[in-house]
Formats: sequence, C-alpha cells, structure tokens
Amino acid sequence: MTHLARQEEQTRIHEDARRQLQHLPKVELHLHLEGMMRPATLRSLCEKNQVPLPAHVQASEAHYFATFDEFVYTYHRICQALAQPGDFALLMADVAAYLRRNHILYAEIAWTPFLYLNRGLRFAEVMEVLNEALEAHNIADRVHFLIDVQRDHGLEVGTRVFEQVFATHNQWRIAGVGLTGQEEGFPPAEYRQLYHQARECGLGTTAHAGEYGTAKDIWQGVQALGVQRIGHGIRAVHDRALLDILANQQIHLEICPTSNVRLQRVLTYSAHPVRTLWQAGIPLGLNTDNPALFGIDLSDEYHKVMEHQGFGLREMYQSLLHSVQASFLSAERKHALRQQLTQGWRDVC
Ligand SMILES: [Zn+2]
Repeated sequence: MTHLARQEEQTRIHEDARRQLQHLPKVELHLHLEGMMRPATLRSLCEKNQVPLPAHVQASEAHYFATFDEFVYTYHRICQALAQPGDFALLMADVAAYLRRNHILYAEIAWTPFLYLNRGLRFAEVMEVLNEALEAHNIADRVHFLIDVQRDHGLEVGTRVFEQVFATHNQWRIAGVGLTGQEEGFPPAEYRQLYHQARECGLGTTAHAGEYGTAKDIWQGVQALGVQRIGHGIRAVHDRALLDILANQQIHLEICPTSNVRLQRVLTYSAHPVRTLWQAGIPLGLNTDNPALFGIDLSDEYHKVMEHQGFGLREMYQSLLHSVQASFLSAERKHALRQQLTQGWRDVC
C-alpha cells in the first residue's frame, strides 16, 4: 500500500468512526449558551443590532486564544449581538439543531446573565424566551439551565444574580448554579454562603476551577463550596491528595478537551490529562464548552479522545454514565436516561 493509499484508508476509518459516534445517544453537562451560536446567526444578529462582527468569525481556520482576556473579549462580543430578549429565540434554534445533530438526550446549558442585566434586560424576560423556545422546538424534556456568575464581577453582583435564581428557579427549568470567569485573584471560597443557599434551594452546584487557575481553586471548590462537579479541573493532575479526594468523594469533572487546546491550557490532545484523571478513578464526562465558537460537535470530542488517548467505545459509554450520575436530574430521570443510553450503545460496546 502506498503512503497516499494508507493515508486515505486512515481518513476513511476516522470518518466512519466519527459518523458512528455522531449517531450514538449522548449527554452533555458543560455548555455555555452563547457559545452555541452558529456563525450565521451571529452574523444576522450583528447586522440587525448594528454590532461589529467578532474577529474569530471572519477567520477561516480554527481560532486559538492566546490569553483568557482574549477569549472573554470574544465571548462578550457574542453576548453583545443579543440585544433584546427576542434575540435569544434565534439562538435557541441553534441549540435545538445542535442537540438533534449530536443525538444529545439531555444537556445542562449555562447562561451568565449579568452582562445583559447590566444593559437593562430583565432576568425573567430572557428566561421566559428561553423556556418558550424549549417548548417550541420540542426539547423541553432534554434541557435544564444552569445560571453562572462571573467571579471577577464580584460578590455583590453574584448575590444579585443568584437571589433571582433562588426565588424563581422552579419556574424556569433551572437545575443548578455555577461560577465562571477569571480564577486568579478571585478565590471561589468567597461564594461559600451563596452556594450553601443554592443547596438549600435544592439546586445542583458546579464551578469552573483548575482551568486557568491552580489545584488550590479546585480544593476551594470542593471544600468551601461543596460542589458536586468541577468545570475542567485539569490542574488536579499534579496534586495526588486532590486526585484522591475527587475520586473518594466521586466529584465529577466536566472535561472539555478542545476548549483546553484552543485556549492553550494544554498544548495538544495527546498532552491532555484526561487519561490520568480517568485512571485515578475520578468520574468524568466529555463536553464541548462552546461548540459553535470552536466549530466542533460533541462527537468530535469523543473522536479526539479515542484517537489521541487510547479510549475505546466502552470507556466513552462509561463516561456517559458518569455524566448521567453527575447531572442535576431526579433519581427517576437518571434511571430512565441510563436505560436509553444502554439501549443505544448496546451494539457497539
Ligand atoms: Zn466553561
């Protein structure tokens, strides 16, 4: 076989694997709402609301972000394109298409409302549009929302946002709360009381930690906030005691390989610590973080991890069961979801 023929054969095998993965039922827990906006939707909203188009949309190649500030700047530019509550209905059409295309049976989608509230939009107005769109696209049984606060906006803002969540979560399909934003200089422990209140309300808890920050942020997430899950958490890999705590307490890591590569948290897919975390017995699942912004599907994440980290379909299926267990669903819904996944993956592993 010539070198070219071998390459073509490899490409065909990868394409077949990708197609197969695309059609298998899945669950995703770490998704940011605006990061699901297709470039075409972003273009039309920017035009309608007379907002400049973010630079990454004009780039024909995958965009790599040199700094966290550059990423946040881009993300905020996307947020600016959503000027009125009704604009969120357009975005939700992209959400529905993404879930269908990836055969996602259940997703938890995070929204960070402060920037909008600061521009005069009302929390309830947007939540109403989001919930109506779930009904209109017939995906209400597949989605729960998480409400995030950006820690570098400060505790006062966080309190203002979370108080609205605590008062209205049952009304709007909100299943939990999260923390995003700059890790350095903004310790998660400050949110201890708010996380306690969230738990009192029956809300699930997660927090981004150990992505840009250090293992110390993950420790605080676990010990001060009492989170059930950590967003990313990849910096745990250098801290043996933390790996043990995460494994013993079965704290789930929401792993987003492509996001880590694009934001240059790891240099390559092969260098990602997902295998080490898995072998340490920590429950984890795969996620896209911002699929449209990165130009990827959830099946791409599975494919990358299988290709570069030697995971098999059986392990992918197990990671899905971890995601179900770590979801903020009722025990009854988890049970039903597990059955659906088992049914769907039965023939491949
Ligand atoms: Zn994230």
